[in-house]
Amino acid sequence: MNKERSDSVNELREKMVSIGTDTDRKTGGCNIMTKLDALRKSARECAKWRGHELSRFSPAEVQSTGRQQSFTSCLECGAMAVVDTQPLPNGIDISGRAVAVGCKKRKT
Ligand SMILES: [Zn+2]
Repeated sequence: MNKERSDSVNELREKMVSIGTDTDRKTGGCNIMTKLDALRKSARECAKWRGHELSRFSPAEVQSTGRQQSFTSCLECGAMAVVDTQPLPNGIDISGRAVAVGCKKRKT
């Protein structure tokens, strides 16, 4: 269990580092993952590692600036996860309780 957990932490770190650069590299291919999709995937993985079971993300809310935001919450405890393709200078692209604290409904 402990080994498995540290492995997933390392994977998660690699994925978080690769956000942005990864999508840039793939723009020539046919399987393009948008920044929003990449953020959603990372948020889901991060929340999963914390024991949450996220429901589907809401459809992207697209603003005139091209900024996209999407929301979801944990089916077990209701903790939110928010992704934002253009966070404010004092904000972050993945936020919410689901990626910050462990799930209340699950003993670790
Ligand atoms: Zn939860």
